[in-house]
Amino acid sequence: MKLIILDRDGVINRDSDAFVKTPDEWIPLPGSLEAIARLTQSGWTVVVATNQSGLARGLFDMDTLNAIHIKMRRELAALGGSIEAIFLCPHGPDDGCGCRKPLPGMMHDIALRLDADLAGVPAVGDSLRDLQAAAAAGCAPWLVLTGNGEKTRAKGNLPPGTRVCANLAEVADILLQDE
Ligand SMILES: [Mg+2]
Ligand SMILES: [Zn+2]
Repeated sequence: MKLIILDRDGVINRDSDAFVKTPDEWIPLPGSLEAIARLTQSGWTVVVATNQSGLARGLFDMDTLNAIHIKMRRELAALGGSIEAIFLCPHGPDDGCGCRKPLPGMMHDIALRLDADLAGVPAVGDSLRDLQAAAAAGCAPWLVLTGNGEKTRAKGNLPPGTRVCANLAEVADILLQDE
């Protein structure tokens, strides 16, 4: 299986310091859905792993988050792409869960549910914690410079071997060209 794991906010859609709380606030980054569509059409299984502490903070509920994801999937389907599954951490930073990135719990859930070996699987994020979760699970960390990505690169301390791309379109370009 050709598997790729994507963070959501700042990778697929615009991030917001005020959280993405409604379907209207979910706005895809230019070229991101097209990139996912190209990957799925080339046989890649695309999975999303996203921290959604806005749930724990009471900023939105699960019904609203589902509505956001229905919008994301619908816009992606219109371009011929699909997301196999969306894994999310609903907890806050002080809840002591094992799934909130930088911990690798969601990655391990993905491995179990898809019966996949995560070694070398590209895991794309815009924040250090995405890359740390990826590295902790044996994935290959890929940083995109959209969302928080420029700040993340500037702060440094990236896990060894982190690859840096302008955006998700460039990630897809490289993965598809390597095939
Ligand atoms: Mg992000
Ligand atoms: Zn969690």
